[in-house]
Amino acid sequence: AAVPRLDGPRTPRPRPATDADEPVVEAFRLRREFGRGKRRVLAVGGPDRAEGVSLAVRRGETLGIVGESGSGKSTLGRMLVGLLEPGSGRIHHEGRETAGIAPGAQMVFQDPVSSLNPRRSVGESIADPLRAAGQRDEAAIRARVEELLTRVGLEPGHYDRYPHEFSGGQRQRVGIARALAPQPSLIVCDEPVSALDVTTQAQVTALLAELQRELGIALVFIAHDLAVVRQVSDRVAVMRGGLIVEEGPVDEVYDRPAHPYTRRLLDAVP
Ligand code: ADP
Ligand code: MG
Repeated sequence: AAVPRLDGPRTPRPRPATDADEPVVEAFRLRREFGRGKRRVLAVGGPDRAEGVSLAVRRGETLGIVGESGSGKSTLGRMLVGLLEPGSGRIHHEGRETAGIAPGAQMVFQDPVSSLNPRRSVGESIADPLRAAGQRDEAAIRARVEELLTRVGLEPGHYDRYPHEFSGGQRQRVGIARALAPQPSLIVCDEPVSALDVTTQAQVTALLAELQRELGIALVFIAHDLAVVRQVSDRVAVMRGGLIVEEGPVDEVYDRPAHPYTRRLLDAVP
């Protein structure tokens, strides 16, 4: 596969979500800081106390989040799935306010190695969320995991293999299978292809786009690579210094950026 280009081919998109569709996840004025005193860092939110990040992602829709390193993308992503508590602001999943881990939300990380236990077979890692959800029928669990492995382009026989036996791209496929296991309505991918070579990047990106279409999930795709984000996103949000400076349909934002910062980001792409 070729290096993704800003004006490169797009993954075909389904019917765009409309405002009438209920958001799978909705965030209202999120803010989050770390540390205290002199070490205080504002990761998400603005200097004005009332200023936070608000967004909504609907079923069957992909929201890309771009921005330079340190702009608050990961902090925002972790709050959206409930891995990190907002300092202030609210999050709704499927229309209801949630606190803590949202059952219908899953996260895929940049480095699947750090999220996979090296001492457990990948099949067992994928089975964990099924058992946590109360499934007890071991034969059914194994069958479901094998089906998930096949769905992400691996083989059923990979169930008994260990993470170190897989390539980076294959490990990311395992991470995706594990995220899919509890049948989430929202998946947040934080730099899911940034650690992969370009050919593998294209394959894993295409897989995510395909799954998002097929399963009708809401996908949040965080990446610093603007070309990769254009391939999969319906809308894009541009983050800078903890705030979204511009948000809109990805073609509009990329072709006619309204914010000078977005223009600078796009101009920096070779
Ligand atoms: P991005 O994903 O866009 O690179 P992050 O959300 O990781 O940005 O980080 C935003 C800011 O918050 C950075 O200045 C980062 O150093 C800071 N930050 C993130 N996580 C923590 C943490 N656990 N403790 C202290 N500072 C943090
Ligand atoms: Mg990050």
